[in-house]
Parts: sequence; C-alpha cells; structure tokens
Amino acid sequence: MELPIYTYAVIFLFGLCFGSFFNVAIYRWPHEDPKEREWIRTPSHCPKCGARIKWYDNIPLFSYLILRGRCRSCQQPIHWRYPLIELGTALLWLLTAWLTTTYGLSNVPVTAITIWHVLFMIAFASLYLLTFVIDLNTSLIPDQITITHFVLAWAFMWVCHGATISPGWQSSLIGMFVLSAFFLLFYFFRGMGLGDVFLAIGFGAIFGWKLVIVTGFAGIMLGGIVAIIIIAVLMARGKYKMGLPIPFGPFLAIGAYVCLFFGAALLDWYLGFFPKLSTALAGWL
Ligand SMILES: [Zn+2]
Repeated sequence: MELPIYTYAVIFLFGLCFGSFFNVAIYRWPHEDPKEREWIRTPSHCPKCGARIKWYDNIPLFSYLILRGRCRSCQQPIHWRYPLIELGTALLWLLTAWLTTTYGLSNVPVTAITIWHVLFMIAFASLYLLTFVIDLNTSLIPDQITITHFVLAWAFMWVCHGATISPGWQSSLIGMFVLSAFFLLFYFFRGMGLGDVFLAIGFGAIFGWKLVIVTGFAGIMLGGIVAIIIIAVLMARGKYKMGLPIPFGPFLAIGAYVCLFFGAALLDWYLGFFPKLSTALAGWL
C-alpha cells in the first residue's frame, strides 16, 4: 500500500492539531480528578496572565510563529515546549505513516498493510509520545494512557485480524502476562512504577509473547545505557546521589516504537547467534 503524496500533507496538519491537544493532555492528565473531565470543557487560557486564548491565536505552530512566541495580552514568553510537541507529533505521524506503508510492520509484510494499520500505528506512536513526555516530566504514566493503550491493542488484534504483529490472540494473551509479571517484581522492589506494569500488559497484546520480550529488553538496554551516562556525568561533577530516580517509561516507549517495525528483525538477528534455540522456538506460537 502506497500513500499518495498529498495524504502526507493531510497527516502533517492533523498531527499538528492533535499535538496541540496532546499539550493539554500533558499539562492536565497527571493531576486531574478522574471525576472531572475538565480538559474537555475548559477553554485554553494563558498560564501566566489567565487571559483566554482566541481561536486565531490557538492555531498549532503558526500562532506561535506569528505571535513570535509571546502571549498577545501579557507579552510573556510562551513555553517552547508547546510548538515543539505540535511539530514533534506531526513529524512522528509522518514517519509512522511512511514506515508502515513502505517497510511494513514486525511480522506484517508491506503487501498486507491496510489503512487500518496506518491509523493504529499512528495511535500507538501518539500514546508512546505522551508516555515519553509525561513520564519524563512527572514520573507517572496516567491511566488515560495505559487504558487507551490496552483497549486499542485488542481493537488492533480484532480489526487487523490475520495481519497483526502478534502471531495470534493466544500469543497476545500469554504476552500480556510475560513482561508485566517481570515488571511487577521490580515494582515490589520499588524499581518501577505501576504505570510501567499496566503499559506492559498492552504491549503483550500488541506484540505477542516473543516480541514483548524484545520490547522489554530494548527498553531496559536503552534505559541502562542512558542511566550509566547520566550517572557518569553526575559523578564526574560530584553531584551524584544514591537512589537517583530515573523514569523508565520514556525508554520503554522508544523500545516499543522501534519494535512495532523492527522487533521481528531484531529477534531474528539475536536468535541468529543461537541456532538451536532458534529452531526450538520456531514451532511455538
Ligand atoms: Zn498571557
């Protein structure tokens, strides 16, 4: 399946708009009362002077450029994070649509890709982006993300039946417990949040039990490398304290995104070193 070039322009514009909505989610989800869905009703306002933002000053990215990064009423600078998230979302959507339609997914050849695959991958990519930013900011992964992720994971299994990343629902069912049980152990030893555990249940459904291990492994490797670098830099400056919390969600999010496309290739590459294990695993789900 190849997308006509104009669809990329549409995807980019939709990405900007959703990025604008994600800014609101990033700001409000971590500390909202679940009873009040106020982020739907409350209109946007400047966090510094409280002035309501007019619709023409709320156009993603463009308003920031036209206003030169300042609020129209109080002239205080608007945080660079807002346009960055908008542009980042749009670019992530472009990359995701392009990878899905030109490379295919793990275990899904490009010839089997439908528009549904593109839509689901964009949705998963967006949830991973939100996980990345919110966990980095607050060390939390809100339920809004983990529940949506889980529901979409099974919706994907159902809608794209026969052409999914997981080889089938049995593999997904087992996968739901593999990585999450492992993370749960870490949760009890205070190394990991419950949000990571819930996210891992959704990963299992999307990836099946084999690739969910690859996803967890990719996240742990990436997190470990970055943690070592951060600790080394802090130690060199004499600022390192024991027990420094480093959120794991951002690395898990990157690992999962990579595995959507390259998980199967990574697994094959790794199993290439262990031919006996590879033959033994080949007969399994
Ligand atoms: Zn203002």
